[in-house]
Amino acid sequence: MINSYAVIGLGRFGTSIATKLSDAGQEVLGIDINEERVEDANSVVTHAMIADTTEIEALKSIGIRNFDTVIVAIGNDIQASILSVLLLKELGVKKVIAKALNKLHGKVLYKVGADWVVHPERDMGERVAHQLLSPNVLNFIELSDKYSVEEIKIPDCMSNKSLRELDLRAKYNLSVIAIRHNSTIKISPSPDESIAKDDVLVVIGENADLARFANMTD
Ligand code: ADP
Repeated sequence: MINSYAVIGLGRFGTSIATKLSDAGQEVLGIDINEERVEDANSVVTHAMIADTTEIEALKSIGIRNFDTVIVAIGNDIQASILSVLLLKELGVKKVIAKALNKLHGKVLYKVGADWVVHPERDMGERVAHQLLSPNVLNFIELSDKYSVEEIKIPDCMSNKSLRELDLRAKYNLSVIAIRHNSTIKISPSPDESIAKDDVLVVIGENADLARFANMTD
């Protein structure tokens, strides 16, 4: 399905979002107040234009309401980021995603109507720390404060055993939802599925249990 996106602020964060969306075949309009940034973005987005998104008339003339999703990736100018989100919501844009520089900025963005606020630096910092603390965890999704899904590389001592033999459900209270073997993925593996060296288990469970299992595999 092709959706239309507008990305406001073509710095590193905005450009990387715009590039990924364009590569996925989506329609992307890039907007920046700075001409040079717009020129640089021209090769990666469907269209790029110069505009100050804190001006309601500029947003109206772009027809910003017609975009499915607008991403406000304005960096250091907190005032411009807040004003842009406020105007976008006032103009009736359904989904506005905004980047926050800090906790308070994030709070204000929600107050003025942002549908989703992202904290890229905080989140990336947390991911790096998580990776350092649990090197065997290749990837994770936090489902809530308590539960996550993690991709965990198995230690050699677990290879050539079946899931039944490993018995992660009884020992760690974890469920294996998939096994990744090189580039193939087995979803909902049977208990008789055997685990090969360097396989990755995709497991779901409580964070404390996941940490216990991941650290055991060190
Ligand atoms: P990053 O950390 O992602 O590189 P930057 O602060 O470099 O972030 O980029 C933010 C971009 O937002 C800049 O290119 C800047 O010109 C743009 N920008 C700032 N204010 C406005 C505004 N009022 N309207 C449109 N674009 C803006």
